[in-house]
Amino acid sequence: MLIVDKKVFSFDNLLLKGNGILLNYICCLMMIPFSPPRIDQKMIDEVVEALKSGWITTGPRTKKFEKQLAAYCKVPAMVCLSSATAGLELMLRWFGVKEGDEVVLPAYTYSATANVVIHCGARPVLVDAGDDFNIHVSLLREAITSRTKVIMPVDIGGWPCNYDAIMQLVNQPEVKSLFNPGNDVQQKLGRIMVLSDAAHSLGATYNGIKTGALADATVFSFHAVKNLTTAEGGAIALNFPAPFKNEELYSCLCIYSLHGQNKDALAKMQKGNWKYDIITAGYKCNMTDLQAALGLVELQRYDDDTLIKRKQVCRFYADFFKTKKWAEVPVQSSGERESSYHLFQLLIKGITEQQRDRIITGIFNRDVSVNVHFIPLPLLSFYKNQGYRMEHYPNAYQLYSREISLPVFYDLTDEQLNRVVNAVADSVEEEIC
Ligand SMILES: *Cc1c(COP(=O)(O)O)cnc(C)c1O
Repeated sequence: MLIVDKKVFSFDNLLLKGNGILLNYICCLMMIPFSPPRIDQKMIDEVVEALKSGWITTGPRTKKFEKQLAAYCKVPAMVCLSSATAGLELMLRWFGVKEGDEVVLPAYTYSATANVVIHCGARPVLVDAGDDFNIHVSLLREAITSRTKVIMPVDIGGWPCNYDAIMQLVNQPEVKSLFNPGNDVQQKLGRIMVLSDAAHSLGATYNGIKTGALADATVFSFHAVKNLTTAEGGAIALNFPAPFKNEELYSCLCIYSLHGQNKDALAKMQKGNWKYDIITAGYKCNMTDLQAALGLVELQRYDDDTLIKRKQVCRFYADFFKTKKWAEVPVQSSGERESSYHLFQLLIKGITEQQRDRIITGIFNRDVSVNVHFIPLPLLSFYKNQGYRMEHYPNAYQLYSREISLPVFYDLTDEQLNRVVNAVADSVEEEIC
């Protein structure tokens, strides 16, 4: 039994009435969550269809989702996988990144971006953030050495990095001549690879071009909290220049993601086609058709529904906080760029980290969930122990210490939006006024 606003609900009744959707709604009346997925009847039906088809591992739905995603991003090929982390690591392994190599990435990101570099035995070289939370492009040049193999820009909150500047930099004759190819693939590219961590930025645009088509390879995340979810999942958009053949690379990465086996389950289903070979000691990080079922529903409604709603939510917050002298509102669209509105990263002027933490406690006490994106890598035990120092990344720290991410999700109601902004304003004003 559950008592909300003095009304009594029985759980049996709720569960009967609507697959827990009503139950979710009632929970939201109490505490506004940060980023729950949008699970409606369409999502449930499509997963049920996949189950009934009997095909639950990588199969027709995954292949269809890959084709639709590639068309959406206008890229030659897309590989779907079990996570973005797997996609980032697969690309580093494919490029032959190993001990002795360096990979340049932002200090202000989620740990997945750096962890995969560690897995490969290479060294993450961290670069401070610019005022827009993204890697500070004018600090990139001094981070590059003859050991640099890859740059991993991250579109924080869904805001695309300055890809023109990054691609120009890696193509500069002086930077190219520093590049020291250690294998055939590196020789063929002849320069640093740009591997974009676009975990937040599906559908964002830079100069009218969608993420995916802006770097050599771009990795999306479909984790439960991301803009488009498959519960867990990810994809690599392939966009390498000639002489690379992205379709061939696609087949190679599919094999790489499935033990290095030259035939997948679908190919082996053909009559008599049982024999297989292992051509490399591959990984196991393929996407299942149950995940793809969710992705197909999510992609269909992405531009015309999901992104519109996310933009409305962010606009509402921006309009409210613009009127507060203590608030700094994130830029989410400009002439050349538009965000995918993954996060609304509010900054509070002139506060310390301790004040920010107290403000967050105040917001939670008012039954609103918020978050901080991100704790910079040098503040995390593993990276601290590796010798990274927060003092070397002052801008990342001053952003982190003043940042509060507000709830952005499809089912947010007007009433809830008002509760969010009032909870934030009351809590900030209680702390600083
Ligand atoms: C979520 C996230 C990832 C990892 O995505 P998974 O699909 O969970 O592996 C990587 N980078 C950033 C910036 C993220 O926010």
